[in-house]
Amino acid sequence: MVKPASRIENIPPYLFARIDKKKAEARKKGLDLIDFGVGDPDIPTPQNIITRMKEAVDDSANHRYPSYEGMFEFRKAVADWYKKRFSVDLNPADEVVALIGSKEGIAHMPWAYIDNDDIALIPSPGYPVYKIMTLLTGGNPYIMPLKEENHFLPKYDDIPSSILDKAKIMFLNYPNNPTGTHADDDFYERSLWIAREYDILICHDAAYSEIAYDGYTPRSILEFDKNKKYCVEFHSLSKTYCMTGWRIGFVVGNKEAVSNLGKLKTNIDSGVFQAIQYAGIEALTGDQSSVEIMKKTFQKRRDMVVNGLNSIGIHVEKPKATFYIWAKVPKGYTSADFCEKIIEEQGIVVTPGSGFGEEGEGYFRISITINEKRIAEAIERLKMVRF
Ligand SMILES: *Cc1c(COP(=O)(O)O)cnc(C)c1O
Repeated sequence: MVKPASRIENIPPYLFARIDKKKAEARKKGLDLIDFGVGDPDIPTPQNIITRMKEAVDDSANHRYPSYEGMFEFRKAVADWYKKRFSVDLNPADEVVALIGSKEGIAHMPWAYIDNDDIALIPSPGYPVYKIMTLLTGGNPYIMPLKEENHFLPKYDDIPSSILDKAKIMFLNYPNNPTGTHADDDFYERSLWIAREYDILICHDAAYSEIAYDGYTPRSILEFDKNKKYCVEFHSLSKTYCMTGWRIGFVVGNKEAVSNLGKLKTNIDSGVFQAIQYAGIEALTGDQSSVEIMKKTFQKRRDMVVNGLNSIGIHVEKPKATFYIWAKVPKGYTSADFCEKIIEEQGIVVTPGSGFGEEGEGYFRISITINEKRIAEAIERLKMVRF
């Protein structure tokens, strides 16, 4: 057998492999699994978006290669949405690029900015792509622990200035997966101060900017970076419009950074299928009532899960955003032990916090992407587990 590249061999082991094995065993035993593991909405894509896609598929003009950076109409729809939503002005010509899902852009960002041994600041727990892709480029991830006592925000004072001097990019993600926390204005101001002082490009992952509750409205980091000098922001249509399978997102902000990522991408992909871009335009500019309905649904589920966990002695507060509940495992368990125990005994699947980085150890994540009936059933089953 041909030996694969060492960069492949060096990818850290897949941390969910143990859980997958337990799931398979539980299924074999005939357990009915209730899976809170995947962050993928169970709600279908709104009908107006599907209808637009169907029309666009019939048009042969959309069957050819799209432009690399996205159709101008799509980028214009993004700029208009940004203006309306955040009062931020974007030039669709050079401050917006379409992505094949935001994960694609996030994954390629280190390839545009990180040389061997360059430092990228990475939050932990966090979306695993930030760290793994930094490692694959030969870069050096510097972990910023997100601790409960700091509201799961990185503590910049703890980062040595020798590291900040060398760091080139910093990933941030608020509202946050997996912790469900959000950032306040003061945190964005402090982040911008760090970026200016140490010349660091902030890559803000805003996948959950539209999924918020209790009157909280997430902000764009570009509201704080008025001249768009230090930041790019990644957005996804996946979560807002229940379009995870469609693969469309976008990056906006500093035009050099947007263009460098775009330049890299011309050598990798050939853009987003135009019919999907038309569907994306419909999502951003069409009737938004589906977003409100989705949020109400998630809010109800959030309350059920939080109340349920509190009733069995696992204390959690209601997150103001995202569709995740981040909770401490009971005393005496590691994340993996606890998750394995509830799969084995009750067929309840949650994600071990350690899967999101070492700093996630001691926690588990519940994704409220299953219906209320199943959530109620899961809570009843959890009541039978002895911790
Ligand atoms: C879901 C998710 C993404 C990726 O979304 P796509 O646009 O579907 O690629 C990116 N970042 C975070 C934190 C996510 O949870």
